[in-house]
Amino acid sequence: MKEEKDLKKKILIAEDDPISRRLLEVFLNRWGYDVAVAASGTEALDLLEQVDAPRLAVLDWMMPGLEGVQVCRKIRERKDRPYVYILLLSARAQKEDLLLGLESGADDYLTKPFDAPELRARLHVGQRILQLQDGLMVAGAELLFRATHDSLTGISNRGVILDSLRREHSRQKREGGSFGIVLLDVDHFKSVNDTYGHLCGDTVLQEVVRRVTSTVRAYDTVGRYGGEEFLIVAPSSGAEGILRLSERVRLAIEATPIKMDAGEISVTVSLGLAVSSEAAPLDPKLMLSTADEALYRAKADGRNRSKMGILDASPSDSAVEIALVKTGSH
Ligand code: GH3
Ligand code: MG
Ligand code: MG
Ligand code: MG
Repeated sequence: MKEEKDLKKKILIAEDDPISRRLLEVFLNRWGYDVAVAASGTEALDLLEQVDAPRLAVLDWMMPGLEGVQVCRKIRERKDRPYVYILLLSARAQKEDLLLGLESGADDYLTKPFDAPELRARLHVGQRILQLQDGLMVAGAELLFRATHDSLTGISNRGVILDSLRREHSRQKREGGSFGIVLLDVDHFKSVNDTYGHLCGDTVLQEVVRRVTSTVRAYDTVGRYGGEEFLIVAPSSGAEGILRLSERVRLAIEATPIKMDAGEISVTVSLGLAVSSEAAPLDPKLMLSTADEALYRAKADGRNRSKMGILDASPSDSAVEIALVKTGSH
């Protein structure tokens, strides 16, 4: 009984002949399956389209309307859907039929009248394949996550955040508008490591990231650019917008010391900004070097401040400097 309980899996049967259908249903129920029944190929496809649809299907070949092999082909055409294991049942016992059935996308083929223990065993094989398939999907998703995220902080890694920057640049070329970036570097971080140890430094970085990600807007992306440097890509931001964002981030980190077992650690960050506007579009490389230069100035001017990157003196720069004064940046 325990075995049957463990196997309580959804299964679809599609069979146009009422007697055969009923017979299959009885057997599958007895073997512990949760059975969905279709009397035609069209009905079977509909049922397989539903959320939480069965992943195991027993399809009769000969049915009015859509035949079993046609249902197979249609299911295999679907992309980005969970894999459905299909067992084709048919009175056609010729080798060519078997080949055609498998070529149409069926995983297994059984001739009618079916032998009950054999059907049961073959469905167990199907379940095993589905379990392996699910395991592979999970492993694949984990690999993808690891390849795209920073393991310490869980945010996008350098490659992904640079992709975001390039994507935003392409979007601007297509649709216009402006966007900005913020390059953030933790101040005197080496001394945090030197004083409290590297592990403590790691925790500080995690907390800095937590504060950054909870301060930015939902459509901004944050990534780890380097050791203790982070990059924010902020769509739809002009100079004033990006400056406000940067100052919010700076204040969120400055506001309260980070509580650690070793005591409270006060941390500040310096931020270099760059904006690509419709009037003065910058390519990603130039944006990064502009933000980097601004970050350098923020450090040189005493740290714990935001600085707007300036390509050359133009009227809009003075507007930015005014905005800097207004928001209390140095
Ligand atoms: P500044 O204000 O000029 O930025 O000074 P700083 O000390 O922050 O700059 P510096 O570049 O001299 O030191 C950065 C340090 O960050 C050195 C490096 O060991 C440390 N670091 C980089 N990545 C990690 C990390 O993942 N964990 C820890 N704990 N430290 C890291
Ligand atoms: Mg039939
Ligand atoms: Mg640095
Ligand atoms: Mg630093």
